[in-house]
Amino acid sequence: MIRFQATYFDGQTSKAQAVVVGYDGQHLSLHSADGNIQLRYFLKECVITPASGHAPRIIKLPDNQQFESGDLNAVAALEVEAGGNRGMRAVHWLESHWKPVAGCLAGAMLCVWAFIVHAIPFLAEKAADAIPPEITRTVSHKTLSVLDKRFFEPSELSAEKKTDIQNLFQTIADALQVDFQYQLAFRRSPQIGPNAFALPAGIIVITDEIVELAANERELASILAHEIAHVEKRHGLRSMLQHAGVFFVVSVLAGDITSITSTAGTLPTILVESGYSRRFETEADEFAGRFLIGQGWGTQPLQDMLQRLAASHPDFPSLTWLSSHPDIQQRIENLRKLEHSHIP
Ligand SMILES: [Zn+2]
Repeated sequence: MIRFQATYFDGQTSKAQAVVVGYDGQHLSLHSADGNIQLRYFLKECVITPASGHAPRIIKLPDNQQFESGDLNAVAALEVEAGGNRGMRAVHWLESHWKPVAGCLAGAMLCVWAFIVHAIPFLAEKAADAIPPEITRTVSHKTLSVLDKRFFEPSELSAEKKTDIQNLFQTIADALQVDFQYQLAFRRSPQIGPNAFALPAGIIVITDEIVELAANERELASILAHEIAHVEKRHGLRSMLQHAGVFFVVSVLAGDITSITSTAGTLPTILVESGYSRRFETEADEFAGRFLIGQGWGTQPLQDMLQRLAASHPDFPSLTWLSSHPDIQQRIENLRKLEHSHIP
């Protein structure tokens, strides 16, 4: 037996009358205290309208009559008796339990976020180690030839200057006991200006402009050590694999790779990219900083170089040494801290 209070409307007038509703397992009966209302219908003759949040429930009776009740539990029980719409009951459950639902959703998003932030970089690092050197070499040379077509001209540095830089590079590589076979690629690029970057196979591109910007050998050495760090720690490959991983996760969540709009596909990548790059830049700065400290030069040469690069790139063109890490002051601060932690 289910009993609950309700408000009855006769379907002819707008008069609201208090009634007690009862259900005996087959019939729905309505009684008013004054005895004016005495109704009895089979439950299957009545329509329990879908619930909407915490609003009172409305039950339609034959001949336009209806009643409504704020006793949601009683009506829900009635609905179960009537074998009501399971789908709508589920919707109602979600509506009336929005807190746990929101909690689950937040939990799921947190899991995805944790996967993107922690698992993908971890997996990418493992995968980068497993990529055969031939593939890395092919990717690197193809990338360089694309860059050559778009951004670079042959270097105009003198043969003597190039030899000096080669020798400087060799000294650094020896001091760092590097794993890779390195190759310096000298290029001129009025388009991108002072710049240096590393391709995964160990090709380090330096522009004439960055060589000219460096005030001395130590500053140039700081740039070269930073680029060596990117190669030794496989930052290029890891970054590529991480992008692929994020793209994959977004595809899975979106359900269908072809349905992803360009925004949905690229936005998370961009959001995550800045975090990834910052991590790699910090790592490379630290590596270079330790090398400089080890040489007895302190981190000042890299700090000065960063300052000068920032000043020479007022609008951070897309392919620059600085594009992914505009927070120069933070990087300089990190270098200072690193140096202080090394003072005996
Ligand atoms: Zn870098």
